[in-house]
This record gives sequence, structure tokens and C-alpha cells, in this order.
Amino acid sequence: MSSVLNDGPRGGQVDVLKLAAPGVRDLAPYQPGKPLEALAREYGIRDAVKLASNENPLGPSPKALAAVTAVLSGLARYPDGGGHALRAALAERHGVEPAQVVLGNGSNDVLELIARAFLTPADEVVFSAHAFAVYPLVTQAVGARAVQAPARDWGHDLAAMAAAVGPRTRLVFVANPNNPTGTLLQPAALEAFVAGLPAHVIVVVDEAYYEYTRDLAPGFEAADAWLARYPNLVVTRTFSKAYGLAGLRVGYALARPAVADLINRVRQPFNVNTAAQSAALAALEDEAHLGAGLAVNRDGLAQLTAAFARVGLPYIPSYGNFVSVGVGQPAGPVYEALLHKGVIVRPVANYGMPQHLRVSVGLPEENARFIRALDEILNSQLSSKLAGTPAEEDR
Ligand code: PMP
Repeated sequence: MSSVLNDGPRGGQVDVLKLAAPGVRDLAPYQPGKPLEALAREYGIRDAVKLASNENPLGPSPKALAAVTAVLSGLARYPDGGGHALRAALAERHGVEPAQVVLGNGSNDVLELIARAFLTPADEVVFSAHAFAVYPLVTQAVGARAVQAPARDWGHDLAAMAAAVGPRTRLVFVANPNNPTGTLLQPAALEAFVAGLPAHVIVVVDEAYYEYTRDLAPGFEAADAWLARYPNLVVTRTFSKAYGLAGLRVGYALARPAVADLINRVRQPFNVNTAAQSAALAALEDEAHLGAGLAVNRDGLAQLTAAFARVGLPYIPSYGNFVSVGVGQPAGPVYEALLHKGVIVRPVANYGMPQHLRVSVGLPEENARFIRALDEILNSQLSSKLAGTPAEEDR
């Protein structure tokens, strides 16, 4: 796309790219999973399954849906900008004060608010290779410098991350478990890392998948338990995953009151809408629906990984509601071939993982359809290789 406009002041040309803030000029926007509607539009496929955005295949709690319906007639009013009821419920849940809870339009919003509250172009931000793509985005958008530490076995290498921290480091992001790798840091190791950081560094532990992790790794200790010990710790959570409310956009941060206050200063007053606040409140209380979703995830993860193991595809053991699998070749064409079979997964080349695909755990029949489609694609390649003809997706 040309950035040159011909209708500049007094008819001159303007290159708007030159007008952009330096960080924004080179920013590559976040690539979301392909929506089902896009596949229908572009490929004419209408019965596709989407396993591309780590959404909850069971959908939201019926109680959350009822709560949304109940507030619809009040939509002429602005939302409660302070999110009092939801913050009070979250504070109680986490054993903290409401002043320690910051609500966001999804946890992505919270991550961006943290960057805006703490970073200047003179600062550095440390995160791991293969880490969640929003960390470099929010860093670059405010003109700060991203310092990427090397990973180990696809996961965070805490020693390498500690070594990357310097006098200019203001923020460290750690996703536990990480997306798209699904790798988990042991709580004791992560806490030791947090404890060892210099006082001028804010550390964000992103626990977007916490509910799944707690289910898959019984006894897992979450980082919110450490808030009283570390004044520089921020923990983020979301209602988009296990609570099935990705479309409404609700996430939050937990921090010491002084840190939460700073993050709140850059927050738009009505960043979490009325429907989202009441749905989140109701979802929190529906333990039965949450439990049902966790069971679907546990079984689905086992179904997917058993299939990978059967055909010898190397997968990265995951503690979330998704799993990344190596396909032993550039994954882009395999992703495309899956699209043609009506299965949307996530290519992760932009995460430095060009031979992996990330698949979200779906309902049993959705997982089975993905497994079947992948099997057909890989088998067609093999038989074409044996016959010396181009494979289906190479044509
Ligand atoms: N953190 C991680 C690690 C994630 O994977 C995601 C979702 N892809 C988010 C944060 C943000 O999710 P949301 O904005 O929907 O809360």
C-alpha cells in the first residue's frame, strides 16, 4: 500500500509513513486467527471448524448469557467506569483489595496499559523468544526497545532472561504458560526469578490460561499468591479462555495498589462495557460450567496428543487449551491445505516456529476432523512422494 498522499497542504505530496511515530512505522499488526466468516467468503466453505484462537468450544456459561440479556435494556447508560462489582468479586477471589484490580478490554488491553504507564523510548523490555506476540507490539508502539532472550526447549529460559535485564530494563513479560508454545515454568523457579529482579523492573506474569493450567498441573501455584511479597509484580488474567467470553473482551491485572493506580491513570474510563462486566461476574460464579470446559479441554488435549504420538509428529506438551505440533516441513502449505478441508488452525512462523502449527482444543468431533484432515494431507504427500507426483497441496 502506498503511503504517499497527493492531497497534502497546498496540493503537495505527503508521505504519511514519515509522519508516524517511529515505533508505529515498523509495526507489523497482530495476526488474529482466520474467522469462520472469512473462510466462507474466500473459499466457499460453510461447515468449517475453527481451532485457531484458543477459544472455549463449549461457549459461555448460560448464566453469563442471562446476565447479558438482563442488562440490555440499560444500554443507553454508560458502563460503571470503576467496574465496582466485578472488581470487588475479583478482589475477593484473589484475596486482595479492590484497589489492586485493574479491568481491561481483554487482557491485551491491560498489557498495553502497562506498557503505556511504564515505558518511554529510553526503556527496554525483556521477553522470551516464541513469547506471546502482543509483548513486542505494545513495546514497539510506545517506542521502547524490545530485548528478546533466547528460549530453551521452546520455553522461557529464565537464566537467559535474567541476563538480558540491564539498567534500562523497565518491564519484563513472562507468559505462564506461554502462547503459542504451551510451555510452563515451575512456580518455584519463576518466583526465584521475580525475587532476583532489580527494583526498577516491573514484571508481568501473564496467566491467561491459568484455569486450564491448574486443571492440567494439579498443585500449580499461581503468581497472584506472591503479590504481597513483590511490589513490582503484576499478574494478568482473562475471561476470554476458560470463561468463554472472548467476544465480550474482559481481562484484568492484579498488582500492588500504587502500581494499579498508575495503570488505571492511562485506562479509558469505560474500557469494559456493561454487558462484559455483568457476564464476567456471572461467569465467575458458574463453577459447574467452568469445570465442564476444563474436562472438555483435558480430554481434547489427550485426543490430539495421542494422535500426534501415533504418527510420530513432535508436539510441545501444553498446559493451556491449545498445542503446537511440528509437521516436519514448512507449515504454511499444510495450514493452507487444512483450510481447503475446512479446518482453521494457526500458523506460527511469525513466532519463529515455521514448521509448527498451533491447534486449539475443540469439541471431540472438531478435534477428530482436524486429525483426519491432517492425516489425509500428510498421507497424500507420502503417497505422492512414493508415486513421484506432486502432492495435493503442491498443485
Ligand atoms: N496473553 C496470552 C498469553 C494470550 O494467549 C492471550 C490471547 N491470545 C492474551 C494474553 C490476550 O487475550 P485477551 O485479550 O482476549 O484477554
